[in-house]
Amino acid sequence: MRASSRIAILACISAGLCFAQDQDFSKVQIKVSKVGGSVYMLEGAGGNIGASVGEDGIVVVDDQYAPLADKIQAALKGITDKPVRFIINTHYHQDHTGGNEFFQKQAPIIAQDNVRKRLEEGGRAGNGGALHFEAKAQPKAALPIITFDHDVTVHLNGEDIRALHFPAGHTDGDSVIYFPKSNVVHMGDDFVTYGFPFIDVDGGGSIDGMIAGVEGAIASLPPDVKVIPGHGPVSNLNDVHAYVKMLKETRAAVQQALDKKMSLADMKEKKILDPWKKYSGDFITEDLFLETVYNSLTGQKNGRFVKHN
Ligand SMILES: [Zn+2]
Repeated sequence: MRASSRIAILACISAGLCFAQDQDFSKVQIKVSKVGGSVYMLEGAGGNIGASVGEDGIVVVDDQYAPLADKIQAALKGITDKPVRFIINTHYHQDHTGGNEFFQKQAPIIAQDNVRKRLEEGGRAGNGGALHFEAKAQPKAALPIITFDHDVTVHLNGEDIRALHFPAGHTDGDSVIYFPKSNVVHMGDDFVTYGFPFIDVDGGGSIDGMIAGVEGAIASLPPDVKVIPGHGPVSNLNDVHAYVKMLKETRAAVQQALDKKMSLADMKEKKILDPWKKYSGDFITEDLFLETVYNSLTGQKNGRFVKHN
């Protein structure tokens, strides 16, 4: 298998930026587990789904891929007969928003302004360089009908469910969703457990925004909060600490090399991110993450040089 097609397939699995028809969803089963309080996590394919379930109904966070919508619906029915009241999107990627059209027939979708914009317009998603995908423009029925700039609170199930925007992190429309009474947070793709994260530099993401957002979350969350990552098993704040430490250290290593006027090729040659190679994954390898951080720090976007610091 050629390297480029391998990357594309792995990207489908991990980031879900490819189209649903490229992937076989028929075997996917939705696993439901209780995280804490009234919050559940649903795993299938694509980003983790969070669900607040209570007397008022269900508030869903993210909805994976369109072909899984029936199965997700059935899994929710297995928890409660109450209706879906709202769906919140943590960001625009298709592995988190693919079920929007299906679920918006039942309840309104809420997201940050830029999520709607990117879903509506489509465009290029990628690390600013070699790794990129086409994000297809979505039909009107799939667009969030309620959008917000900075934050929004949904008062249901005896909980003040808070969606807080992180500017320019994984994308330019990220939100972290906090359930204070249940003591659970859904971090979207600003925190993942599959190794080096994908940062959608072409979609307005940045390493500095991701660090700032995650550090801000750590500072404001209780130490024993249960963390739903965008991808991966339920984690705790120590895991998030270790992750942001890695982000800061790798960012510093690339900045140091930039200060020495090293080129990206030199940095790859010298393997400057080798001390963190345990984070190198099938989807985002050490070299791809190096390229991502380099592009983010130097202003490379859409495969072009946009600005220089
Ligand atoms: Zn994503």
